[in-house]
Amino acid sequence: MNSVSFFDYYVKIYISMYNEDENKFFYHPLENIEDTEDFYAAINRKHLFKALSPERPYTYWTIELYDQKNGIRGGGGLGVLAADTRRVAEEMNVPFTLITPFYPFEPKQRIIDGKAIDEHLPVDYRKFGFNYIDKVSIKCCGNLCYLDVIEKKFENTRILSITEPNFGELYQGMSGGDHRLYQEVSLGFGGYKALKLLGLRPAIMQLNEVATFFAALARLDELASNGMDFYEAVVYTRKHTLYTNHTLVQAAEAEFGYDQFERFVFPNLKSLAVKKWLKDKFINGRIKLSSVTIEIAELRSGVSKLHARVANYKDLAGNKVKFKAITNGIDLSTWVLPEILEFYKKHEILDRFGLPTDNYIDNLDYLTAEKIRELKKIGRGVLNNILKSRPDQNGRILEFAENDFIFDFKRRFVDYKRPEMSFKNPMRLREILEKRSAHYILAGRVHAGDETMSGKLKNLLETVRRDDYLRDHVHYIADYDEKLAYGLSVGSDASVNIPIVGLEACGTSWEKDVANLDFLISTHDGGVADGNIDYYLNVSGANEEEELEALYQRMEQALEMSANDFDLEFGLKRQLETFLPVVSGARMLRDYLDYLFPA
Ligand SMILES: *Cc1c(COP(=O)(O)O)cnc(C)c1O
Repeated sequence: MNSVSFFDYYVKIYISMYNEDENKFFYHPLENIEDTEDFYAAINRKHLFKALSPERPYTYWTIELYDQKNGIRGGGGLGVLAADTRRVAEEMNVPFTLITPFYPFEPKQRIIDGKAIDEHLPVDYRKFGFNYIDKVSIKCCGNLCYLDVIEKKFENTRILSITEPNFGELYQGMSGGDHRLYQEVSLGFGGYKALKLLGLRPAIMQLNEVATFFAALARLDELASNGMDFYEAVVYTRKHTLYTNHTLVQAAEAEFGYDQFERFVFPNLKSLAVKKWLKDKFINGRIKLSSVTIEIAELRSGVSKLHARVANYKDLAGNKVKFKAITNGIDLSTWVLPEILEFYKKHEILDRFGLPTDNYIDNLDYLTAEKIRELKKIGRGVLNNILKSRPDQNGRILEFAENDFIFDFKRRFVDYKRPEMSFKNPMRLREILEKRSAHYILAGRVHAGDETMSGKLKNLLETVRRDDYLRDHVHYIADYDEKLAYGLSVGSDASVNIPIVGLEACGTSWEKDVANLDFLISTHDGGVADGNIDYYLNVSGANEEEELEALYQRMEQALEMSANDFDLEFGLKRQLETFLPVVSGARMLRDYLDYLFPA
């Protein structure tokens, strides 16, 4: 096939898909917020007026943003979190600037003969409401590299991006490779210059993982090369930088070599003291960005209670690093069916900011089985609509009846999330589905080049193909993205979330599910472990066989509970009781503001 026409073809479909019903599925801003004062008062932080202003915004740095409506497709949870954080800030009128690359290409995944194949599609920022501002330059490999600065403005927030035609895709090349370093340095030094170009001074710099370290380095260099004493500049930068960690083990992180820094990093530093400081951080000619990020950020957070406790990081002096637990939430206006959100607000389960009210637990009594079924019926219609353009592995267009029971597993296909686990005993899975003629929908992209997971997906599809019942009741939908995530959250009855305990930092897919009244079948890990283990369908066991048995029992239990009014009401209310405060994105923003700007 001619690749140029192929690109054209796909891009047209892609763009029309996201324009047609843009506002129907995503983003319903809160109404009736008079001004910032209300939210600041609600969270008892009136003094934030002084700290934050349009010229002195909260700045959020991220190499990954998952915000398809604005033309940027991330890889997973890290990017979804970034998009949700900005949307929550927008709704709460918090001055906020998100700085991220605009990747001129993005992958789209198809399944051909059971194999995951990525196509690379060009994306044009002009089609997504970005405006070109100017160019900035950074130095790499002895050259000046020019980056376009582009901006998309909202009412209170903006996305500020740097890009150039050869910037590549998200996570292009090997981790620890030159292209990644080029992208990270561009975001840090280029993004910092872009901020200055707009006349903005950051009130705080939140670094969403260590790939954004160079932004804080650019600030340190600016201060130190403009007359501030080096140690004062370090203290100042440290006090205004928050490092948000999503990874569990430092050992797993990529390293860069001294020669790479000579080509990409040192030439961008003006201050000799900063250069010396950074050079001293190499150990045997190698550097891990986490080690220097810890040095440059006094504020550090982890993304769930469990994660903050177990993340195993040491600073350069060998001391264990403490992380403040601020559990990821989701932007409820984006992810919750509008009718469900309206219900929560009408009955004062959530207040107008999306924070759980003081008596949300009592008010959950308004949630009757009848109401749940009515709301889920609307969600089912939304799912059917989305599935019209998303055939399953057999090319079938699926359409589900109101009373079909749907399980789903939707998340990146990575090993620790165990997408294949429910298929270990295909006969047992079949028996479970047969009880109520239930369906099981799987969705999740395999990382480019991940042969292990590509193989597991192929085997899984083969297992399904060989069984005449599973073939009609198990569906894999390719190219998992936000729209599918939304459709499945609002339209399924139970979701399966079974990471190996200890390996999920937080996870947010399951948060979309509990907010949309699905039964959660989950291991006690990540953000789920913020909640009460007895208040959802917990999967535990001393070993994998026991866990598998627990998983099957929990699937049976979900089927039984949803068929009985009392159990349906009771089960879903308990889930909301324990998880609503966790999933609220406004609660997350409040926690960040509390931590960053103590009273
Ligand atoms: C919500 C969402 C995620 C988040 O996944 P977790 O692994 O649960 O954090 C990833 N990808 C997409 C498309 C999503 O919508």
